[in-house]
Formats: sequence, structure tokens, C-alpha cells
Amino acid sequence: MDSFEYNSNPSRVVFGSGTIKKVPEELSRANVSKPFLLSTPQQVSHIDLLKGVLGDVVSGVFTEATMHTPVEVTERALEQLKSSGADSIISIGGGSTVGLGKALSIRTGLFHLTIPTTYAGSEVTPILGETDAGRKTTRSDPKILPSAVVYDVDLTMTLPVGLTATSGVNAIAHAVEALYARNTNPVINLLAQEGVKALASSLPVLISEPSSQEARSSALYGAWLCGVCLGSVGMSIHHKLCHTLGGSFNLPHSETHTIVLPHALSYNAPKVPEAIKALASTLPGNEGDAIRGLNILLQKLKVERGLKALGMQESDIDKAADIAVSNPYWNPRPIERDPIRELIRRAWAGEEAR
Ligand code: NAD
Repeated sequence: MDSFEYNSNPSRVVFGSGTIKKVPEELSRANVSKPFLLSTPQQVSHIDLLKGVLGDVVSGVFTEATMHTPVEVTERALEQLKSSGADSIISIGGGSTVGLGKALSIRTGLFHLTIPTTYAGSEVTPILGETDAGRKTTRSDPKILPSAVVYDVDLTMTLPVGLTATSGVNAIAHAVEALYARNTNPVINLLAQEGVKALASSLPVLISEPSSQEARSSALYGAWLCGVCLGSVGMSIHHKLCHTLGGSFNLPHSETHTIVLPHALSYNAPKVPEAIKALASTLPGNEGDAIRGLNILLQKLKVERGLKALGMQESDIDKAADIAVSNPYWNPRPIERDPIRELIRRAWAGEEAR
């Protein structure tokens, strides 16, 4: 076995159905009692549910969490948080709301409990991306990691089918890049394969049966494992490209990940045969070909396949290629402009990855 290093991120995880009822117990465990609640405007009903569980200890609520954590939103929330006298933060929602919780907890040092309701995985990473004046910057700090995560499968029942599919593939992308990360290790490899298996078997079921408790449970479990992969080892071309595309052309997060993933994998495939083999073993019906396996999964999920449908202009392909090669980073295959441009063009046009 090759030598390796392994770090685990210290977060407490409570997983199950109806676990939102355990939130008061989790606050007591952490010796806090006056939480400030966060959500997006679309998840006010989840805030109401949480208020019902917590009773009159809630010290404030902010329901304007926004994708890519704009600093001006964080500053408004921070003002309200400070004047509320809260001693803790609870975020309930997808990566956007978890991001706001992280931005507030790193600024205040307050205990952050998060209740994730998508498959994005941010809840178990020490990473925070923030947008200021249209520019997204990402930093990593152990203090950004939420202290406690309450996964309640019941809250994912309302996740729309389209977002269920793309958010699930966003999670799979974390595992795919973890399999060939420069600092990957045997533990992360196990988590990555188990995570992809759980998602690849449950997501197609959720397309036709979005309320299947068993499939929802398996998808959320897979998302957790894939999130751990994202938080533990370095990501490369796929995540960097999605970051560029999302930040520069304002493309939606999980949809962009879903379209780019097979193309990014195809770019790296010649250099990462072991990762391809491991991934192929987790995706059904692919005859040993992981890219084929991903294509089959995406067909089953009936997701959008071209970035042009998300609003990206053809003239942006060259701009995206220029940005993608301008900041060098580690990738199993060197980042070269022409093949990168071709990767982006294929993803833009919605051509099948090979
Ligand atoms: P999101 O949080 O933006 O959610 C999308 C929409 O779905 C929102 O309107 C939300 O309220 C709604 N929603 C979420 N869960 C729901 C549910 N169960 N039922 C009904 N509606 C629900 O989307 P996302 O893809 O989870 O997160 C994307 C953001 O997270 C991006 O800004 C991305 O950069 C960030 N992210 C960060 C990390 C990290 O480690 N820092 C990891 C992954 C994603």
C-alpha cells in the first residue's frame, strides 16, 4: 500500500427520520440555548417547523440566505444576529444557507448547528465561498466547519425532483474527484465508493418516487459521505471549472456540476485508471466504463446536458477556457488550453462525454 496521510474533520452527526426533534438536545450538549435561525425565503416553512420544535428560545430569524454567499447579505444578517443576543446559529437548508451559517460563525465564533436539506455536502466541509462585488473567493479554515449536523430525511421530501437529481450528481462529483485527489487515502476511497453507490442506486428511484423514504434516506447518507470527501481531500479540474463557470457566468451550482462532470472525468480518465476502475464498480450497467456509467445515470435522471440551456453564450467558451488556464492548480492531467476549450465546448453544446 502507498503511504498516505489522513485527517478527519471533527463534526458531530445525527442522522435519521424526525431528527429535527433532537435539535434542543444538541443545543444543550453544546451548552447553548438562544439560537438564531437561518434559511432562504423558499424554506420559511422549515423555519416554522424548527420554531415549533424549539419553542420560545429562538432569539432571531433571518430568511434571506442567497446562493454564493454574497457579503452584503452576510453583513445584514450579522447586524441582526448581533442585536438578537443569540449564543448560537442554526442553518436549515441547502448549501446557500449552510454557507451563510458558516460566514456568520467564522465572524462571531458562535456555535453552528446545521440541518442540510439538499445533497451539496457543505455541512461537513471547512470551506466557505463568498461573493463580493461579483467576485467569488473561497477559503478553508477548520473554524468554518459546522460543529453539529442534524440530517433529517423527512426534510428532504420536499426537495424538487430536478434539484434532487442535480444536487445528487453534485455530491457524486465530490466523490469522483476524491478518488483521484493528490492527497487521497484508503479511507476516503471507501467513503467515495460507498457514497456514489448510495446515490447512484437511490437517485433514479427518486425521479419516479420522490417520497420514497428508503431512497431519500440512502441519497442523504450518500450525500454525507461525498461531502466528507469534499471536506477531506483536494478537488481538481471539475470543481475548479464549475467554480469558474458559476462565478463568471452566473450559472446555477448543481446544474453546472451535473453537466460538466462526465466531461471533466473524460479529460482526466487517461491519467487515473485506478480511480476509473473504482468508480465503474459503483455505477450500474457500465461494463467497466465509468464515463458510460455516468452517462447512463444522467439519462435516467432526465437532467439538462448542455450549458447553453443554462444561459451560457457560445462566445463565453473562449473566456471560460482563458480563465480556466489562468490560475494553475494541481490536476492529474496537465491543464492545457485547447483540450480544456474542447471540454467546455462539448459541455456547452450538450454533447455526450466519451
Ligand atoms: P441552495 O442551497 O441554493 O438551494 C436551492 C434552492 O432549493 C433554494 O431555494 C432552497 O431554499 C431550496 N431547497 C433546499 N432544500 C430544499 C428542500 N428540502 N425542499 C424544498 N426546497 C429546498 O442549493 P445547493 O445546491 O444546496 O447549494 C449551492 C450553494 O452551496 C452554492 O453557493 C455553492 O457554492 C455552495 N456549496 C458550498 C460547499 C462548500 O463546501 N463550501 C459545498 C457545496 C455547495
